[in-house]
Amino acid sequence: MARRSRRRERAAAAESPRQGLADTPTADTSTTDSSTTDIWAKGAESRDVPSQFTPVTYEEPATMPLARVPLGAATADATATANATATPVIELDQVSKSYRAGALDVAALRGVSTRIGQGEYVAIVGPSGSGKSTLMHIIGCLDVLTGGTYRLSGEDVSAMSEEDLAEIRNRRIGFVFQQFNLLPSLSAWRNVELPLVYRGERRDVRRGRAVTALERVGLADRVEHRPGELSGGQQQRVAVARALVGDPSLILADEPTGNLDSTATRDVLNLFDELHAQGRTIVLITHEQEVADRARRVLRIRDGLIDSDSAAGSAPAAATPSAVQPATQAATR
Ligand code: ADP
Repeated sequence: MARRSRRRERAAAAESPRQGLADTPTADTSTTDSSTTDIWAKGAESRDVPSQFTPVTYEEPATMPLARVPLGAATADATATANATATPVIELDQVSKSYRAGALDVAALRGVSTRIGQGEYVAIVGPSGSGKSTLMHIIGCLDVLTGGTYRLSGEDVSAMSEEDLAEIRNRRIGFVFQQFNLLPSLSAWRNVELPLVYRGERRDVRRGRAVTALERVGLADRVEHRPGELSGGQQQRVAVARALVGDPSLILADEPTGNLDSTATRDVLNLFDELHAQGRTIVLITHEQEVADRARRVLRIRDGLIDSDSAAGSAPAAATPSAVQPATQAATR
């Protein structure tokens, strides 16, 4: 299970900041979670992760209006125009992934081929054990594939070094997880600034961008709050702000509403709608129909293969494993 824990450890966004960076946040020493490795550190070594953070669950305020501050420079119109000729953000060709479990090889992905264009909003759904998380981790460069090729914005990441992959994760991808993965000892803005710490940004720059990102998700008045002082929905919005702070083109979310009540779920989904409307590419895993319905395209995974690929709300079109057609992008906008 070493690989599993390696995957999980990378997926835990909390981290121990590197030594030697001025003003890096101090890791929480009261919890082993602080030793979880990070998504962004270059050449991070494998370490075991005892647990992920336990979200605080108490009642969500009845209304949590999202700030209407623009979330980014890109616009859906500009993106749609660019898409006509653009290189896909994600291009998977016959991707396979096997895990060694004792004497057995477990084939988690068995030849997945698909393309996701810039500005698409895609939900990955499927039964438990079908390969969704494995696919998400490969797309997020958190795990390496066993066979096939994966191009991210035209670049073949299959053979990249760990250092290069960390750089890609830091600069191009924003991650949102079911468990939020916030460091409990750090205030909201210090959690949000973490990707920038790994870029070596100056403290004043980090603070400014973190506060702006928190404003964008409607948390301007919670900048100094720690996760334990926030509701589950607010914590997830801090996590979304952290995903946005580095201005990535791709947002990957793994069951982002899995720990939220219905009001907070709607808030977070509204936020994703806004991000999509402003041109971000969003790929999320979900088992909730309500969440899948908000996406514009649904990839259904079964037994390590894409079972169907359809515009959300439409009847699924069967997909063959070797030649999955990208969903009609025109229909997604
Ligand atoms: P899902 O996210 O759809 O629940 P996963 O991608 O987590 O599915 O897992 C797909 C398959 O791969 C499952 O059969 C699972 O048991 C197996 N698997 C995932 N990770 C590992 C691992 N590290 N070692 C062995 N088997 C694994």
